[in-house]
Amino acid sequence: MKGAMTALPLVFDAPRRGKPPRHLADLTREQARAAVTELGQPAFRADQLARHFYRGVTDPAQMTDLPAAVRGDLTTALLPGLLTPVRHLSADGGRTRKTLWRLHDGALVESVLMRYPDRATVCISSQAGCGMACPFCATGQQGLTRNLSAAEIIGQAVAAAAAMANGEIPGGPGRLSNVVFMGMGEPLANYPRVRKTLDALLTPAPHGLGLAQRSVTVSTVGLVPGIRRLTEEGLHVTLAVSLHAPDDELRDTLVPINTRYKVAEVIEAADAYAARTGRRYSIEYALIRDVNDQPERADLLGRLLGNRLAHVNLIPLNPTPGSQWDASPLPAQREFVARLRAAGVATTVRDTRGQEIDGACGQLAAADRGPRPEARPELARGERDGVLIPAVAVAAPAVEPPVELGAEADQ
Ligand code: SAH
Repeated sequence: MKGAMTALPLVFDAPRRGKPPRHLADLTREQARAAVTELGQPAFRADQLARHFYRGVTDPAQMTDLPAAVRGDLTTALLPGLLTPVRHLSADGGRTRKTLWRLHDGALVESVLMRYPDRATVCISSQAGCGMACPFCATGQQGLTRNLSAAEIIGQAVAAAAAMANGEIPGGPGRLSNVVFMGMGEPLANYPRVRKTLDALLTPAPHGLGLAQRSVTVSTVGLVPGIRRLTEEGLHVTLAVSLHAPDDELRDTLVPINTRYKVAEVIEAADAYAARTGRRYSIEYALIRDVNDQPERADLLGRLLGNRLAHVNLIPLNPTPGSQWDASPLPAQREFVARLRAAGVATTVRDTRGQEIDGACGQLAAADRGPRPEARPELARGERDGVLIPAVAVAAPAVEPPVELGAEADQ
């Protein structure tokens, strides 16, 4: 295990950078109404703007229910463009589409829209980079650039919903049905903004995207205080815990946050969430050849989860550039599944959509790679002269010593 094992420090507090401009999606409805009033407009215009935003309308010319004279000012003041598409990469006949977004300060993040016969799921980023330092994850190896604002996170889901509604994805116009926080970043390390995002996703249209709680999945490395907070707030979204090892000794190396919150503590927090919601949680487990895929580990995981309200999602490792690690071979995968099922644990193997466009789990690392030759880049709308804009490098974040959670105030 060389190369990939470069130990990075855990980073909880995001480096402070210039805040994104104010956006309606960061505000409560009352705050938005007050902001519109300050601009000399009747408060109900805030609702009109919200309706446009959640439908993905960004062009003031299309906001025909607003007086032409104020459309531009209101849009500039409350609906600034926070996410600029740099490029789209498509796979699976266009039904998987990854978008690279540039943020106001040049930071880059990615989201991936996946259309299936019965649903459409977008995988969104909650941070630029990630501070959790998991050695097998491309984003984890980048370090943390900054937290995204609520509007920057919500905007990714809104763009996906609009792409579906506008028929941009083969299969005809459709509806975005699911959102997973499995893009870049650790959502529970950016709790206040992720909490606001959940509100926006769950609030019925026109003030949100109107998704069902079970169709929204928050995936975490196991930040126990964050899981407890979700539990206390009475949310019923699907919880996914990235376990990757049933024993502390191995998990300490694969998921470094385990040095702070041990397996037993994470499982206890997930159990409490399940008890509160009555719904099973997912255990994510990337199968890494000869690292965590041994039959004994399957048995250990089986004993750990056998009597719990949990479901295991096995993900054959997507090898990241420079990593010495590989996915488990098929026979090892099958043996692992069989042993878990024999222990009474519901188990599925994740399909790895979008692998060839680096859109699969753990491969999102916007800053350091251009498109692979076999991928088919589409031009993002609005690009000039048909020139593909190359990914600009994100300024390397200063690596800070680990600090306590939750110190950062909400924006
Ligand atoms: N920070 C969140 C979201 C991360 S991405 C979390 O850790 O849950 C979503 C999932 O992809 C996580 O389970 C993560 O561990 C997994 N993952 C990361 N890198 C991977 C890789 N190279 N191959 C397979 N899965 C990976």
